[in-house]
Amino acid sequence: MITWQAGKIVEKKQWATDLYSIKIDADPLPFKAGQFTNIGIEREDEMIYRPYSLVNSPDDALLEVHFNTVKDGRFSPLLAELGVNAPISVANRAGGLLTLDQVPETRTELWFCATATGIGPFLSILNTADIWQRFDKVVVCYATKTAADMAYRDDLNRLLIQHPTQFRFAPFITRETADGAIHSRFTTYLESGALEDLVDIAFDVDSSHIMLCGSSVMITDMTRLLEQKGLRRHSRQQPGHIAIEKYF
Ligand SMILES: Cc1cc2nc3c(=O)[nH]c(=O)nc-3n(C[C@H](O)[C@H](O)[C@H](O)COP(=O)(O)OP(=O)(O)OC[C@H]3O[C@@H](n4cnc5c(N)ncnc54)[C@H](O)[C@@H]3O)c2cc1C
Repeated sequence: MITWQAGKIVEKKQWATDLYSIKIDADPLPFKAGQFTNIGIEREDEMIYRPYSLVNSPDDALLEVHFNTVKDGRFSPLLAELGVNAPISVANRAGGLLTLDQVPETRTELWFCATATGIGPFLSILNTADIWQRFDKVVVCYATKTAADMAYRDDLNRLLIQHPTQFRFAPFITRETADGAIHSRFTTYLESGALEDLVDIAFDVDSSHIMLCGSSVMITDMTRLLEQKGLRRHSRQQPGHIAIEKYF
């Protein structure tokens, strides 16, 4: 059973139609960068809730969630209606395997591949010191439908300046052409070999670890293509190379 704590929305940002981030003031929630928790809204004596990844890093005072609204969805349209000062409930536990402690010690190259709001857990990890101390190379492949949907792009560009030799950022926009982004899916790029050329890093069974977050279509396609390169799904019981979190 979920134990809830009371929180309050203290900031809200709309990035595009149906795309938001909110910051929540609540009691400290112990979590590892990359994990998710449940967010709840009380309606007519019922708690409606869904899991959401935390965008903030564990040291930050406020919790941050990045979300899109799903047409006819039960929860996300309610969440989008809430404004600053609205009460919101936060579960008192976090979970999920997109965390650095799940990456086998020998890996030196870490790939994050996200569709849309799936960038959230990776931002949390990218904003910790651990990742930059531990990995030689960090690659972010981030795909959205439109340029306006590419939330947090400035933060990712800032990381490029801070970590010019370690960090590679590959933005993909699928439904329009946009400056500084590739008009394609990253799965198409991976399949043709262009993705590895673009970032100048090859997938390798000894050194690569890949985290995938977002739509099930992307996760299925990426997993199939990476398995063809000899990489295996990761689980707590069977350490591998590909850790996933499916949003839908
Ligand atoms: C571990 C985990 C972490 C998650 N973290 C996030 C997050 O950080 N940000 C975020 O926006 N969502 C996240 N999700 C998805 C989120 O929990 C909800 O499923 C989503 O917001 C839709 O809820 P809903 O009640 O509005 O729709 P529902 O009424 O639950 O679902 C309606 C339909 O919409 C589909 N659907 C669900 N999500 C999406 C989507 N994003 N785009 C298109 N169709 C969708 C479902 O498959 C379902 O068929 C996460 C899911 C999981 C399992």
